[in-house]
Amino acid sequence: MMRRKVAAGVDKLTDIINDEVIAAGGAAEAWGNVPSAVPADDGACPICGGSGFVLLQDGTAKRCACYAEQRLLLAQKEARLQPNLRRMSFGNFDLSCYPSGIMAPGGKGQTYYQLAREAREKTIKCCQEVIKGGRPRGLLLLGQVGSGKTHLAAAAANQLLRRGKRVLFLVVPDFLDELRNSFGSEGADSQRLLDKAKRTEVLVLDDLGTHNMSDWTRSVLFSVLNYRVNEGLTTLATSNLDFAALQEQLGTRSLSRLLSLCEPCLLVSDCDIRLRGLEKA
Ligand SMILES: [Zn+2]
Repeated sequence: MMRRKVAAGVDKLTDIINDEVIAAGGAAEAWGNVPSAVPADDGACPICGGSGFVLLQDGTAKRCACYAEQRLLLAQKEARLQPNLRRMSFGNFDLSCYPSGIMAPGGKGQTYYQLAREAREKTIKCCQEVIKGGRPRGLLLLGQVGSGKTHLAAAAANQLLRRGKRVLFLVVPDFLDELRNSFGSEGADSQRLLDKAKRTEVLVLDDLGTHNMSDWTRSVLFSVLNYRVNEGLTTLATSNLDFAALQEQLGTRSLSRLLSLCEPCLLVSDCDIRLRGLEKA
C-alpha cells in the first residue's frame, strides 16, 4: 500500500520535473550565489542516497534538494563546461583583485576596478535579458591572459544553465582541433557539434584567435558566426588579442560578424588574477 503511494508520487513528480526543476532552483537563488551542497560527481547525496527523492511520513515522495544540482551538473556537461569552470559565478568574481587606484591601459581614464565592475555588470545584464526571453547582443571580453575573462564567461554560462537555457561553451582552439581531427573519418559527430555551435541558444567562444589559423578553420568560424548573426542568436566571446591581431587571425569578414554579435568590453588586470587568488588563499 505504502509502496504504491510512493510509486505514484514518483511518477507524477517525474512528469513535471523536466520543466520545473531548473527554473525553481534558479528562481530561488540570488544572482551569483551558487549553493555549496553539490554532491560530488561520483558521490551519492547523504539525504536521498542518490535517488533524488525523499520519502515523507504520509507515504508520498518529494524532490530532494540535491536534484536541481544534479540536473545542473548534467546541463553543464552537455554544455561542455570543464569541471574547473562549473563553480564560477558572478558572486565569486572577485572585484578586489582589480586595483581601484590605478588607471588601466586602454581603459579611457577608467581604473582596473571600474573596468572589471563594468564588465561584470554588462555580462549580468546580458544574462538577465536572455532569461527574460530576449536575444541580446553578447559581449566580446578582451584582455590579457589571466584577466578574468573566462571566469565571467563561465559565470554567465552557469547562470543561464541554472535557468534552463541551452548553452554551449567552446574553448575555440580545442573545438577547432576536435572538428579537424574528426572530420573525414566519423563525420557525423563533428557535423553535430558544428550544428550545435551554430544553433544553440547561447554560444560562448572562449579564447578566440589563439588557434593556428588555416583557411579551413577560418571558414568554420565564419560559418558559425555568420549563421548566428543571421538568426540573431546571443553569443559571448573572450580573446587576449587586440582588434588588429583578431582581424589578422580571423579575417575581416569574421571580425565584422563577431562585432555584430558582441559588444567589445575591456577586462584587464595588473597581474594574473588567478595567481593573486592563490596568494590570498
Ligand atoms: Zn539528495
